[in-house]
Amino acid sequence: MTTDSAIADVLLPLSLPQAYSYRVPEGMVLEAGDYVEVPLGPRRVIGVVWEVRPSVPTNMKMRDVLRHFDLSPMTETHRKFVDWLAAYYLEPTGNVLRMVLRVPTAFEDAKQNIAYRAGPEKPAKLTVQRQRVLDVAAQGFAMRAPELAGAAGVGVSVVKALAKAGALQEVALPAHRAFAEPDLNAGGLHLNKDQTTAAAALRQMVATRIHRVTLLDGVTGSGKTEVYFEAMAASLASGKQVLLLLPEIALTAQFLARVENRFGCEPAGWHSDMRPRERERVWRGVAEGKARIVVGARSALFLPWAKLGLIVVDEEHENAYKQDEGVPYHARDMAVLYGSVGKFPVVLSSATPSLESLVNVDRQRYGIVKLKDRHGRPELPETTRIDMTREKLDAGTWLSTPLADAVTQTLASGDQALLFLNRRGFAPLTLCRTCGHRLHCPDCAAAMVEHRFKKILMCHHCGHKEPVPKACPECQTEGDMVPVGPGIERLAEEAVKRFPDARIAILSSDLSRGQILRDTLREVEDGTVNLVIGTQLVAKGHHFPHLTLVGVVDADLALESSDPRAGERTWALLAQVAGRSGRGAKPGRAIVQTYVPQHPLMQALLKGDRDAYLNTEKIIRENAGLPPNGRLAALVISGVDAAETERFAHTIANTAPMAEGITVLGPAPAPIAMVRGRTRWRLLVKSKRDVNIQGFLREWLKHVKTKGSLKLEIDVDPYNFL
Ligand code: ADP
Ligand code: ZN
Repeated sequence: MTTDSAIADVLLPLSLPQAYSYRVPEGMVLEAGDYVEVPLGPRRVIGVVWEVRPSVPTNMKMRDVLRHFDLSPMTETHRKFVDWLAAYYLEPTGNVLRMVLRVPTAFEDAKQNIAYRAGPEKPAKLTVQRQRVLDVAAQGFAMRAPELAGAAGVGVSVVKALAKAGALQEVALPAHRAFAEPDLNAGGLHLNKDQTTAAAALRQMVATRIHRVTLLDGVTGSGKTEVYFEAMAASLASGKQVLLLLPEIALTAQFLARVENRFGCEPAGWHSDMRPRERERVWRGVAEGKARIVVGARSALFLPWAKLGLIVVDEEHENAYKQDEGVPYHARDMAVLYGSVGKFPVVLSSATPSLESLVNVDRQRYGIVKLKDRHGRPELPETTRIDMTREKLDAGTWLSTPLADAVTQTLASGDQALLFLNRRGFAPLTLCRTCGHRLHCPDCAAAMVEHRFKKILMCHHCGHKEPVPKACPECQTEGDMVPVGPGIERLAEEAVKRFPDARIAILSSDLSRGQILRDTLREVEDGTVNLVIGTQLVAKGHHFPHLTLVGVVDADLALESSDPRAGERTWALLAQVAGRSGRGAKPGRAIVQTYVPQHPLMQALLKGDRDAYLNTEKIIRENAGLPPNGRLAALVISGVDAAETERFAHTIANTAPMAEGITVLGPAPAPIAMVRGRTRWRLLVKSKRDVNIQGFLREWLKHVKTKGSLKLEIDVDPYNFL
C-alpha cells in the first residue's frame, strides 16, 4: 500500500495480455485487487489493480486513475486464478478478467432504497385511506411505498402525502437483501452406513485444509448429494465460502431447495438467466464474503470470491462444463486449478465419472470415495435391450412393439414412463421426394432441422430460421417435402397416437425454458404428468419419484461420431438416463432400443458393468495416445474467403516447429466445414501427457498474424471435434 505518486498497473477487461500503467493521484490509496476506473483513449473503463509499485522518474506521460470503487478488493488467490487460467488456455488475461467483471451494475452507486415507517406527526386531515396506511405502519415494519400502499389497499400517493406531512418517516433500506448465515444443523437426513463412512472421509479431507481432489463415485440415487453436503458443512464451519457447481441451470431450482433444507438458509444462485439486480446482489455478496453458499453454473467460478474454501462439482463428467464460445475453458478442470491456487479441497461427484478423473484416481493424484448402493434400495434399474434389427416398424415410427407394450403397462399400473431421444426438433433432415434435394442452411454445412411446433426450419449451428417451404426450392414440386429420421417432436406425435390417454410432457431445451420448464419439471415430479418425452435435458440429475420405466429410443445415436470420447459420453448418458428410473417407492427398469446389440457398450450396459466398459475405453485411449493419456489442442482456422482460409491454414501448419513428443495433424476441413458463412479448417496438436503443450503453442503461434476476416481459435483440451 502506498499513498502518493505511485503507479498502478491496471488490468482491463479487454483483449489485452497485460495490465496498463496509471498514476495514482494524490489522496487516493490503492492496493492490488482494487476496482478502479481509468481512462483509455476517449473512454472510461473499469478494471482491477494488478500491482501497485512506487513511481520511477520517467518522461513518459501517465494518465491518472479516475476513481476507486468502494468494494472489497479482489483477493490475491483470485488474481492468480485469472492469470493461471489465461496462461493455461493461451488467452489474453484481460479476456479472463472480463468474465469476472460481467456485472456492470455492481459498479453503480448503491441506489438507496427508501422505505417508510410510522412518524412522529399526526396528519391534519385523517381520511379513511390515510388511517388504513397508518394502521399498517403501526405494525412497525419499514416498507417501500408500493408495498405499504398495497398492504393498505390504497394508492402510492396516499403514502407520499403522509410522508410529506411527517406522519410517516423515511428510512433507508440496505441496498440488497442480506444473505442469511447457514445453520449447519438445520436439516440433514439420517445418513445410511455407506453415506456415513463417505461423509466422514470428506469431512476429514476438508479438515486438513490442503488442496486435495476427491472423486465421490456413487451409483445414481445413492445419495451423493447428502454426502457432499457434509463436506460443505465442514468447510462452512471453518468460516469459508463454498461453491456447488451444476452443469445445467435447469437443475438449480431443485438444488437450491435441497440446500435450503439442509442449511436452513436460501443459498445464492448464479447462472446466465438471472435478473441484473440479483446478479449484482450475489456478486457483491460473494466479494464481501457474505454469500456463504453459492449454487451455480460454470461461470460461478469467476465470481470474486473472498474466502472460497471448497468447490463441489456435481455431475463432473458433464460436457456442459466445457465452454466453447469466448474463452474456451473446462469448469471442472478450472475448479481443480482454483483449489490448487487457493489451497483448498475439491469434490468431484458423479455416477459416471469421466475417464480423466478415474485415471487421476489410478495415478493416486485424486482420492476416491465410493457409494455402491442406492439409498434404501439395493438394486439399480434392470436394463434390457431390444434388438432393432429384428423389429418391424411402420415408416415414420420409432417405438418397437415391446417398448410400446411396456409403456402401456407402466401407465396402466399408475406409474410414470420416460421416452428418451437425444434429438431436438421434429426431424433432423427434410428432403424432396421428387428430386432428392435436401434442405440445408444457407450459411452452414448442415441440414435444416424442422421444428414443427414452432412451424419453422432451424439450423442448429447458427440458429438461422426459415419457414418450411411448400415447394422444393430446387425442382419446385409442391407437397413432396418429407421429414427423414426421428426428433423429439415426431416421437411425441407417435406417442399421442399410441397412448391417447397419457398425460404427456415434452422436455427439450428449445420447447421449455425458464418458468415453463420449472413448472413442467414440477408436474413430472409430482406425477401430474405420466409420460415424459425428453432429450438429454431430463437425463441429468433429476429426481422423479414416480418414474419406473425409461425407454431409450435410439441408443446408437451418439456412437457414430469422430469424437474420441463418443463411447464414454454415450455410456454416461445412457447410464444416467436409465438411473432416473426406480428412484421412488417402486423399483424401476430401463429398455434400450439398439441396432448394434453386440456392441461392448450395450453388453456392459445390460450387465451394469461400468468398470469393464471403461477399462476397454481406457485401453483404446492409451493405445491411441488420446486423453487422458495424451493431451490435445485444436486450432480452428476460419474465414469468409474459402481459398484464403485454406491457404492460411496451410501456412500455419507449415510453420509448426518440430518438438519431441508432439505431433501436429492436419490441416483438414472441419467436419462442419462451414458455419455462419465462414469456411473452417482444423489442426489437431497431439502430445504426450507430460509435454508442455502450451509452451509449444506459444512458441509456434507467437508470430502468426491474422488479417481481414481470418480467425485463429485455440482450444486447449478440446471436447468438440466439429
Ligand atoms: P444421487 O445424487 O447420488 O443420485 P441423491 O442425493 O439425489 O442421489 O439421493 C437420491 C434420493 O435419496 C433423494 O430423494 C434423497 O433425498 C434420498 N436420500 C439420500 N440419502 C438419504 C438418507 N440418508 N435418508 C433418506 N433419504 C435419502
Ligand atoms: Zn446455419
